[in-house]
Amino acid sequence: MNGAERYFALAGERGELGHAFLLEGEDPEVLKKTAGRIAQRVLCEKGTACGVCESCRAALSGNHPDIITVTHEKPDTLSVGEIRAQLVDDMEIRPYRSARKIYLVPDAGKMNPQAQNALLKTLEEPPAYGMILLLADNRNRFLPTVLSRVATLRCEEESGEEKETSGSARLIGLLRRLQTADAAELAKAASELKSDGVSAEETFELLTYLWRDELIVKAGGKTRLRFAEAADMLEDWAEALSWAEEDRIFAAIQEGKAKLKANGNPDVALEVFLLELRELLRKA
Ligand SMILES: [Zn+2]
Repeated sequence: MNGAERYFALAGERGELGHAFLLEGEDPEVLKKTAGRIAQRVLCEKGTACGVCESCRAALSGNHPDIITVTHEKPDTLSVGEIRAQLVDDMEIRPYRSARKIYLVPDAGKMNPQAQNALLKTLEEPPAYGMILLLADNRNRFLPTVLSRVATLRCEEESGEEKETSGSARLIGLLRRLQTADAAELAKAASELKSDGVSAEETFELLTYLWRDELIVKAGGKTRLRFAEAADMLEDWAEALSWAEEDRIFAAIQEGKAKLKANGNPDVALEVFLLELRELLRKA
C-alpha cells in the first residue's frame, strides 16, 4: 500500500471520501495499479479491498461495471469529445451495482484546455455516487480551475517493505478464495503477484511465514501472529486439516522453495503448490 492508498483506506474508514482526486507520479504503471486498487477498495463490500467479495472479484478481473477507464485515440491528446462521452455524460447514469461509480483517467495531463474546461462542472458538482481519479505525471499540466477542485495525492513506487505488505495482502486474498478458484484463476493470480513485483521466491517466503502462523493457530495459539489479518482463515484451516496434512503442506512449501533454487520455472512451482493446497483443503 503506498501513501495514496493509505489515504483512501483512512478516509474510507472515516466516511470522508471526496469526489475528485489527482494521483501524481512519474510511473504511469504505478499510477494505474494504484488507481485500480483504490477503486477496488472504495467499492469493496467490506471496504477493505478484501479480494473475496463479488465486487472485489469483478474489480480484480478488470470487469467491474462501476469502474470506468477513460481512453483516448490520439496518443498525445485526450479530447473534449472523449471526456464528454466517456465521463461527463456517462456519469449521469447511476452505478450499476455499487454505491459509487469510479472514473479512472490515465494520461489526464493530455487533456487539452477545452477538455479540462468540459470537466469543470462535473468536478464542481458531481452526483453523490461519482468519483474521478485523474492520473498524471505532473500537476502543472492542469488549469488552476481544475487543480482547485481536486485533491492531489503523490503516488510513488512502493518501498520493499510496502511491497511486501501489498504482496501479502494479495496472497491472502488469493488463498481466501483458493477453494473455489479454478486452475485458470490460480494461474492469473500467480501472475498478478509477479506483476506487483513480488517474485515467486518472495511468495514462498511469505507462505513459509504464513504457515508458521498456521501451525501456531493449530496448536491453539492466537497471539503474535505475523498475519493477524488472516487469523480467521488460518483457524478454519486448522479446524479442517489434520496435523499430518499441516505438515504435508509445510513440506510442499519447502519443496517449492527448493525447486526454485534448482532453477525451476518459478510460475510453475507456485502454481503446482497452490493446486496441491487447494486439493488438500477441498478434501478436508
Ligand atoms: Zn471486497
